Amino acid sequence: MIQKYEEDLTRIACDIHDHPESGFQEFTASKLQQDYLKEQGFTVTPNAADTITGYTAVWGSGRPVIALLGEFDALHGLSQKSDVTKPEPSDTEMGHGCGHHLLGTGSLGAGLLIRDYLQENHLSGTVMICGCPGEEAGSGKAYMARDGIFADVDVALSWHPGVYNEVSTGSSQSCINVFYRFHGVSSHAAGAPEKGRSALDAVELMDVGCNYLREHMKDSDRIHYAIVNTGGAAPNVVQSLAEVNYFIRSANNADCLALASRVHDIARGAALMTGTTVEILFDEGLSNTVNNFVLEDVIDRAFRKAGVPAFDEADRAYAQAFKDTWKQPVTLADIPQEVKDKPRLLKNMQESPLCDYYVETNHSDTVRMGSTDVGDVSWVVPTAQLHTACYGYGAGGHSWQWVAEGKSPIAMKGMLKAAEVMALAAEELYTHPEEIVKAKEEFKERTGGQPYQCLIPKEVKPHTTH
Ligand SMILES: [Zn+2]
Ligand SMILES: [Zn+2]
Repeated sequence: MIQKYEEDLTRIACDIHDHPESGFQEFTASKLQQDYLKEQGFTVTPNAADTITGYTAVWGSGRPVIALLGEFDALHGLSQKSDVTKPEPSDTEMGHGCGHHLLGTGSLGAGLLIRDYLQENHLSGTVMICGCPGEEAGSGKAYMARDGIFADVDVALSWHPGVYNEVSTGSSQSCINVFYRFHGVSSHAAGAPEKGRSALDAVELMDVGCNYLREHMKDSDRIHYAIVNTGGAAPNVVQSLAEVNYFIRSANNADCLALASRVHDIARGAALMTGTTVEILFDEGLSNTVNNFVLEDVIDRAFRKAGVPAFDEADRAYAQAFKDTWKQPVTLADIPQEVKDKPRLLKNMQESPLCDYYVETNHSDTVRMGSTDVGDVSWVVPTAQLHTACYGYGAGGHSWQWVAEGKSPIAMKGMLKAAEVMALAAEELYTHPEEIVKAKEEFKERTGGQPYQCLIPKEVKPHTTH
């Protein structure tokens, strides 16, 4: 019964929300969860894959081994007071705008329920709660997958706080994050321009080159950049150092590497054109998600058993106040492709302040634009995820509204429901191992027997900035 842990889980999630921390710096959140899991009798191993704040917590013995993925990092620039329906900064610079205070704590809650289930039913089996750091930036799970944390795991389950109650389906993009640092020669821009070689010119030409490349990429490719060093604020000094950061995304790792090599060539071309040199500095990489329909069906059955969060009138009034801060109308085009009954969801989004039913979805192989480090886990072990309504309709993730709503009863109900659904899905897998066999067969088919190749080279260690 999740009620048994409601108070503890709420306390942990709210504490993490009050202490937002960035990727690989989640010292408070990680310690809070590790200490609690030790008290609960789990065997806790800190510093998973040299991530410092990543950890694993294991209970039980024998097979199957089910991993539950959690996160706990926050976002810079999202300072916001709780429960306030207008942008109003709090005393922290960061904020939990993606609900990871709920994500990690919900997965922890699922682990407790699974432990109780195995214990009460005298079943063999292992549950491994994974505290995964640096999701927003850092690729924590990619290091964990690369360094063998999931080597003995049979199935991984996860969830993400959202606005719908649904099984997550579809894939996500592979992504490579690269810094291009150009070195030139400074000189007086008026007096001796012929002596200068501009690193900023190289950055600009590289960006122009990539903007022409866009016409000749696949539809599932994306490139975006930010100039992180312009070379200074003085127009009369030829800039000797400038740097641009690129995210290069594609539908799978092979395509992503091929696209990255075209971008590298453009950088080299820009250096050649300007008489500068370029350093190509790999920062991090994420694999695409390998979905698993067998496990999606297991989660679907669990969801139907668990039902949806029981929101009351006070929750609805709270959600309505936040929905009112979002003026953009919703149309059918806003409804995710995989939703079975789109008109029903549209009506719910228009008329209700929050999602109050189970949104049925079709299995999907569509690649969503965007990337997650869950992708790397899904290349090592069959993986599936779900969403629960932790926020009302209106604003989406990474918004001040989500930070403000993060400690509400709605958020907590959504988190507790996610723990229940994951635990029920795990129960089916412990008692029906044939589902795991089927999930592994599907995994093999989808990966075509190809070994997982992490996009992050072996020598690159978890880090915060380049
Ligand atoms: Zn996020
Ligand atoms: Zn997130």
